[in-house]
Amino acid sequence: MTHYNSGEYLPQVPTEERVRKVLVVGGGSSGWMAATMLATALSKEISVELVESDAIGIVGVGEATIPPIQQFNRFVKLDEAAFMASTQGTFKLGIEFHNWGRVGDRYLHQFGAVGREIDQLVKLHHWWALGRLAGSEDYPQYQDLFVARAAAREDRFRPSGPPRNALPNRYTHAYHFDAHLYAAHLRKIAESRGAKRHEGRVVDVEKDGETGFVTAVVMEDGRRLEADFFVDCSGFRSLLLGGALEEPFEDWSKYIPSDRALAVPSKRPEGDIRPYTQGIAHPVGWQWRIPLQHRTGNGHVFASAFSSESEAEERLLANLEGEALDTPRLIKFTTGRRKRTWVKNVVALGLSSGFLEPLESTSIHFVQSSLERLLDYFPTRAMDASLLEAYNMRTEQEWTDVRDFIVAHYHLSERDDSEFWRYTRNMDVPDSLKHIIELWRARGILDISGGHLFQLGSWSSVLIGQRVMPGGVHALADRADPAYAAAEVRKIMAECRAAASQMPKHTDFIESYCKAVAPEMA
Ligand SMILES: Cc1cc2nc3c(=O)[nH]c(=O)nc-3n(C[C@H](O)[C@H](O)[C@H](O)COP(=O)(O)OP(=O)(O)OC[C@H]3O[C@@H](n4cnc5c(N)ncnc54)[C@H](O)[C@@H]3O)c2cc1C
Repeated sequence: MTHYNSGEYLPQVPTEERVRKVLVVGGGSSGWMAATMLATALSKEISVELVESDAIGIVGVGEATIPPIQQFNRFVKLDEAAFMASTQGTFKLGIEFHNWGRVGDRYLHQFGAVGREIDQLVKLHHWWALGRLAGSEDYPQYQDLFVARAAAREDRFRPSGPPRNALPNRYTHAYHFDAHLYAAHLRKIAESRGAKRHEGRVVDVEKDGETGFVTAVVMEDGRRLEADFFVDCSGFRSLLLGGALEEPFEDWSKYIPSDRALAVPSKRPEGDIRPYTQGIAHPVGWQWRIPLQHRTGNGHVFASAFSSESEAEERLLANLEGEALDTPRLIKFTTGRRKRTWVKNVVALGLSSGFLEPLESTSIHFVQSSLERLLDYFPTRAMDASLLEAYNMRTEQEWTDVRDFIVAHYHLSERDDSEFWRYTRNMDVPDSLKHIIELWRARGILDISGGHLFQLGSWSSVLIGQRVMPGGVHALADRADPAYAAAEVRKIMAECRAAASQMPKHTDFIESYCKAVAPEMA
């Protein structure tokens, strides 16, 4: 028991039961995020160590993020401008999807809430749908009712400030960064907070004969690194969770058939830097464009059952906006996840725990949210079963929610121009997604849990962006005059545009706030 000034006695975990050492295996984004967060948050009596192999390297393609990463940055006390400058970072207001509903369509999944509501009870998408009945040809698109979209269409950016609820501030941002520089930046921070790094290749994993707990990893040169608790961040190899502990993999490729990506950097085009990612659908799969300060990151995600690698490479290279700076690199993957991501004294983060393709830039977020959960449920050396169970249940829910959101993009396409799109349109989707689509189609109701990573602003942008309209509007809006709804909707669009026009150009904002130091100095 510890005695506090208030005179209260608070129970504490007895010293002999506490975790004394955590070993992070792997030094990609997930490894260094883990080391940074744990070295920041845990008691100084718990040592945090990390092992990585320069010879193996990192996957190095996770370059687009989503807004909750701001919370990670605040937690680890990251200086935003310094982090952006040392990772060639740019800001991200959303993802612009091309050719997803039909070839030629474009919509932005923007970050933030709809500009403002017309009415406290009836959500704006109902009013918007009603206003369409007024029948004007230049009626605003739904996406025009978000400040983030108004800023993105003019390549403007400035972080939103208080008051949060005022229309000009109803947006938020994430980041694009160079994945190698990101890991290097976090490494400096983690090491400055006491994390210790070991270099070398892990060749074996030792387990306790009785409990099956991992006791040590063995290095190529014979060193043994022991710990009480292991964080497996070894990438697709999944050395501890998949390898030593043999946790089964749940394959989700029937819902997301993509299993390959070709990645290539290209020269940054002249002109303004876009404050958003692009996701351009092709006859098979899609291509990302991620604008950085010094280059553009590109990649083509495709399904080997529907396209050869050479066809995919041709598609990718034909759709670059600048000269390729390298030859395309092939990455193979299977969509899905390990059934449990915390087993015995091993928790897996990042690619070693599973992978959902990068359409909504969610993998780095999963690392963050899993780390937050791990801190909430931080164990004793006994690895309390109730903590593991709750952690695994919540993690699984998060993954299946996001899986459904990603599957919706493919399944709700109207494209009929290739075998790939015919497959995704007609494939059987999880019941949880069927339910969401049915209620949306019936009455514009979004029936998701409050804990879903993507809320109404995101779902409504994607559903309407892919031409899935509510089949009817809310009863309270239904009795109103469509001309009234249309006039109110136009006002909101004008207010969003006025708010965006006050922002500087994204390029100028970067120049004054976080201009990159040369990459070799980063
Ligand atoms: C095509 C593609 C695109 C992606 N795009 C995005 C995106 O836009 N946004 C996003 O959030 N996420 C994205 N991701 C996911 C993102 O890249 C990963 O989530 C993130 O980089 C974390 O990777 P990692 O650290 O788990 O693995 P890795 O980067 O592969 O790191 C693995 C580490 O383990 C070490 N290691 C492995 N084996 C050994 C061994 N035997 N001994 C010692 N060390 C070892 C390696 O050296 C390395 O340090 C993408 C992934 C892919 C495949």
